[in-house]
Amino acid sequence: MPELPEVETIRRGIERHLKGRTITRVEGEGGRLVRKNAQGMIDLHTHLTDAVVTGVERRGKFMWLLLEDSDLSLVIHLGMSGHVRVVDTSAEPLARHEHVRLALDSGKHASFIDPRMFGHLTISPLVEDPSGRLIPEGAVALAPDPLEDVPLDTWTKPLGKTRRFIKTALLDQAIVSGIGNIYADEALFRVGINGLERASSLPSETVTRVVEMSRDVMVEAVEVGGTSFDSLYLNTDGDPGYFARSLHVYGREGEPCLVCGALIVRENVNGRSHHYCPSCQPPPEES
Ligand SMILES: [Zn+2]
Repeated sequence: MPELPEVETIRRGIERHLKGRTITRVEGEGGRLVRKNAQGMIDLHTHLTDAVVTGVERRGKFMWLLLEDSDLSLVIHLGMSGHVRVVDTSAEPLARHEHVRLALDSGKHASFIDPRMFGHLTISPLVEDPSGRLIPEGAVALAPDPLEDVPLDTWTKPLGKTRRFIKTALLDQAIVSGIGNIYADEALFRVGINGLERASSLPSETVTRVVEMSRDVMVEAVEVGGTSFDSLYLNTDGDPGYFARSLHVYGREGEPCLVCGALIVRENVNGRSHHYCPSCQPPPEES
């Protein structure tokens, strides 16, 4: 499943190819990939044909296209297996799993491909969030993500208050959006704390370090194009990301810790896997 660094990598690719471009034609109906918004608007052809893309923004795993002279956006959510590919346009019919194609005045087109169809495309009005940023209506319940330029206490305050496990709280999109399993495990390893610590029991400096490390690990992942475990995640040019080579705990169950040599453990925490080094990140006494 694409997490924030993969979505950000794709956002950059979409921006590079679509910003300033006119959408000349929309091909494909999109099937259940296209969702109604709260006003019942659904039709991509009506809202996107001849629209000029003025920007491509993101919060957490939600991306959206800004359109010139419009208070509507096109929300792109990749779900489990969605991706966006930008190629030279052709008269070929839509391929299997290719649901929508946006033809551009550059001679290229952007394809929305999703084998499992858990992603979605939605025409969504823009509304102001508490910080004054315009974001699509459907994403307004999401907290800012760690790559956004907002005060640190946006995240540390709610994290410091919850009695939930720190791992679980980090995955709560209403506290901090866009941190998924991979990067939560990697951030906790770097701070040296176990995901089963109660968030509210941690010193405030530790909570701050967790947020800072979450940001660092995602910035580093974006620099190498995200993490590809399989062909389901590729960027807009069809290339994989290379952060899997930098993972310390995620996906390394039973392998030696790169710092101390202890064997990495994988446990279930509230239905999600938690990978950690039992020596660098000892479990708390209470659990
Ligand atoms: Zn270790």
